[in-house]
Amino acid sequence: MDEDKGGLYRAVILEHAKNPRNSGRVENPTLQARASNPLCGDELELTASLEGGILADIRFQVRGCAIVTAAASLMSQVVQGQDLEVARVLGRTFAGVMEGEASDLPADLAALEPLVEVKKHRSRIKCALLPWYALADAEGAGG
Ligand code: ZN
Repeated sequence: MDEDKGGLYRAVILEHAKNPRNSGRVENPTLQARASNPLCGDELELTASLEGGILADIRFQVRGCAIVTAAASLMSQVVQGQDLEVARVLGRTFAGVMEGEASDLPADLAALEPLVEVKKHRSRIKCALLPWYALADAEGAGG
């Protein structure tokens, strides 16, 4: 990767970390999960409202590093309005790229490209994947 692109990607991560999209909680969520990454001290809570299998609204409350904050923000934009099962498949695809099992992101995940840089730092991979783990584990919030 050339230097300019690396700098651009870092700027995207910092911008999302500073102004995370879809931050907060969904009122009366139908889907909810918490996830933590003790290695880094990251904690997040995912809340979402599911309408006919579609993620009508998804929000994150994150306490953690810039990477997990940006990862949740970028992910929320990718999966907002998506079918939950499709979103979970996208998460597994992204995990495959971060863990080195696949080399390229599909077009559906192009927005996550800035995070792929992080995979060079093994200890930070979980920061980038934490929101997706939460989505994989999310269950009905009851009621
Ligand atoms: Zn982290």
